Amino acid sequence: MTDLTALSEEVRALARQRDAIVLAHNYQRQEVQDVADFVGDSLGLSREAAATSAAVIVFAGVHFMAETAKILSPDKHVLLPEPRAGCPMADMITAEQARSFKGEHPGLPLVTYVNSSAEVKAESDVCCTSANAVEVVRSLGVTRVLFAPDRNLGAWVASQLPDVEIITWDGFCPTHERVTAEQVRSAVQAHPGAMVVAHPECRPEVVALADAVLSTSGMIRYVASSAAEEFIVITESGLLHGLAKAAPGKKFFGLTPPMVCPNMKLTTLEKVRDCLRDGTGEVTVPASTRARALAAVERMVALG
Ligand code: SF4
Repeated sequence: MTDLTALSEEVRALARQRDAIVLAHNYQRQEVQDVADFVGDSLGLSREAAATSAAVIVFAGVHFMAETAKILSPDKHVLLPEPRAGCPMADMITAEQARSFKGEHPGLPLVTYVNSSAEVKAESDVCCTSANAVEVVRSLGVTRVLFAPDRNLGAWVASQLPDVEIITWDGFCPTHERVTAEQVRSAVQAHPGAMVVAHPECRPEVVALADAVLSTSGMIRYVASSAAEEFIVITESGLLHGLAKAAPGKKFFGLTPPMVCPNMKLTTLEKVRDCLRDGTGEVTVPASTRARALAAVERMVALG
């Protein structure tokens, strides 16, 4: 038995003993994805967190995801295996900045990407993920809207809803922002005939080169049902594992250099084991913040 197999079995046994569910984001390390009860994107993981009857949720992801689970399931123990796993994009707007943003545009609803702190969600009218951002903005039925923190996702939504003016905060994901159109053209040259699938956190000039613009779980569904055999994948490299599982036999090409989110890779199988064994890394959200954030998150979960 390899070390990884033994460790995975230890994690599964501890999860049973502790009445715990292990949720893993699509960008997690391969072995962490493989040990999880559920692997998905932010929207899917939020839904699982809201629906589970387990007493403990181990969230293999980054801090805002565990916070969102806690907002939805306040009676459960939500554990983040690596407390330093944050999201630089979420840190690009504070609650005070969100209030100022709204103050500068009185009366406009604030749509906040789930990649944000609980405090910022508490200032928001509704949250969204990359999977449902267009639908969430459309559902508001307004012609002007504030969107935070991701300027690239905001630009993508604007391109899909030309009748809505989207006023975006100036945040971004460093891992997706780094991708250039030149890199994508090189990949297309190296793999002519491959379909290009891109995440909407990429810059508009990158998104413009894609055949399909999708969330991570959207990409998994897309490659499994597509007639194409080869794909250039423009999102964090952890997704390549899920894609290969969803469509065995098809070929997936990442970019050069690979797109890696260092925060997502902080969580290891050992850390998942340790937090299950020791009950460490508990994430809390103050009751007053939670109450205000819940409505925005629940509206999101109910949509799409
Ligand atoms: S990939 Fe980007 S948006 Fe996702 S956790 Fe990492 S920094 Fe944040």
